[in-house]
Amino acid sequence: METLTEKPWFNYYPAEIPKSLDYEVATLQSYLKRAAERFPDKTVLDFMGKEMTYKEVYKSALKLANQLRSLGIEKGDRVSIMLANTPQAVIAYYGALFAGAIVVQTNPLYVEREIEHQMTDSGSKVMICLDLVYPRVAKVKEKTQLEHIIVTGIKDYLPFPKNLIYPYIQKKNTGITVNLQYNHRLHSFVDLIKKGAAKEIELNIDPKEDLALLQYTGGTTGPAKGVMLTHYNLVVNTQQCQCWMYEAKEGEEVILAALPFFHVYGMTTVMNLSIRMGFKMIIMPKFEPKDILKAIEKHKATLYPGAPTMYIGLLNHPDIKKRDLSSIKACISGSAPLPLEVQNQFEQITGGRLVEGYGLTETSPVAVSNLIWEHRKTGSIGIPWPDTDVSILSAETGDIAKPGEIGELMIKGPQVMKGYWNRPEETQATFKDGWFLTGDMGYMDEDGFFYIVDRKKDMIIAGGFNIYPREIEEVLYEHEDIQEACVIGVPDPYRGETVKAFIVPKEGRTISEKELEEFCRKHLAAYKIPRLYEFRKELPKTMVGKILRRVLVEEEKKKITEA
Ligand code: AMP
Repeated sequence: METLTEKPWFNYYPAEIPKSLDYEVATLQSYLKRAAERFPDKTVLDFMGKEMTYKEVYKSALKLANQLRSLGIEKGDRVSIMLANTPQAVIAYYGALFAGAIVVQTNPLYVEREIEHQMTDSGSKVMICLDLVYPRVAKVKEKTQLEHIIVTGIKDYLPFPKNLIYPYIQKKNTGITVNLQYNHRLHSFVDLIKKGAAKEIELNIDPKEDLALLQYTGGTTGPAKGVMLTHYNLVVNTQQCQCWMYEAKEGEEVILAALPFFHVYGMTTVMNLSIRMGFKMIIMPKFEPKDILKAIEKHKATLYPGAPTMYIGLLNHPDIKKRDLSSIKACISGSAPLPLEVQNQFEQITGGRLVEGYGLTETSPVAVSNLIWEHRKTGSIGIPWPDTDVSILSAETGDIAKPGEIGELMIKGPQVMKGYWNRPEETQATFKDGWFLTGDMGYMDEDGFFYIVDRKKDMIIAGGFNIYPREIEEVLYEHEDIQEACVIGVPDPYRGETVKAFIVPKEGRTISEKELEEFCRKHLAAYKIPRLYEFRKELPKTMVGKILRRVLVEEEKKKITEA
């Protein structure tokens, strides 16, 4: 298959954005070292009033790295991080990298089954987690290769309760005391750092080959697999991001860190970009519109990358009228389609720019986006980033589609992953002639702007979280009264999509929605639990008995258009 010789999108590149960049062949952690040298006393993060400088975070990360080494971590070992956005999440990430480890980001909402899968699949030796999630980790620890657990409290870096700013944290935390008896396998994050040495560890890392991250995603099919991202993949994407946001000034911007760092989107476009550029991060452990609005005003935040629900949430909050949001310069929205209304309203209120971008975990993540300060097309995900090729695979010809023809989006570029961890067959299946197959259906117009129209994969995106129907169906099938189950995403004005389960109960059995919800709660993180249920006598099937998920999706769409 040929690469497009015509790349019409280059006609839209402004003079500030080169078609190709010189990328640093460096490790991710070298960013923090360099920033600590350039901006030692500058604030890198603010967490509810607690500030830390670049030098402090750098030293803490080195101390943690040395402690990880004394716990037996060597180059290439996996260290899991299961933290909400906190100073600890930044220190743990860079600390693990300084130790030569591969970071495995774990969603703190995961329940035991999900934690166990991720720990056993990645073979993580150390887990760094919040005290609130520790009981869940402890329950599965023996079934995994975890040797050490390092625990931290959300308040460890705060002068609580004196400077209490965000009341929900207090509400959540009062009454919950996890009594931890630290021993040689269970450690306190803060104590380890206190006792660690702040010295560099010599590592022989090849940024193009060695992994920085194993980031779990369902990919185009069901069970979560580890996307292998090298240091170079992530350095490249951060540099591309810097180039695209060319008006953002080094050492000057204030970025709102509301996207979780445990997802590659927040990790690259907020954390790694900030550390590269010397920005100040305003760290938000949870998306609370009221607090975000307050933080933008208080800190005069200039950048706010997010998912559509994070802009919709602000626009629907009554405080939006009370707060001064005029400091906002630029926001890139990704992970799901950005409604035009939201874009317009947000830009009107802030006076800044909000544009849509697109990417996947497998592309570190950003591959395509609208230009921030120049021409853009509404409804489009934009144009490819420098050194990134995007094409549409024609289902008819098996070759590259013509402009306007719908097919599967394929990507080539230095930010594309090395493959899936321990899954050579799935890795092979997801590449075609060197192109990464995204599982998203779309087209390119004559100008080289791309549009997403559908997903080939079954994934549901609700409130910015990816949800894989198969995982939920597997849980439902474990219920003794269920004969058949099929899960789909249905449109939802706030979450983008919401999860709906179609259930066929076993002969003579009845199940209530409430019962199913409780059952799911035991086995799935809260955001995956179906919010809608429909009980049927049978489900539409193919001749060979495969449930026709598409038919159910179409039925739901029809209901909406007819309503
Ligand atoms: P993740 O691997 O979690 O980053 O999810 C990647 C998936 O999110 C893509 O394959 C798309 O299905 C979806 N996605 C990302 N950005 C957009 C967008 N702007 N519009 C529609 N879907 C998107």
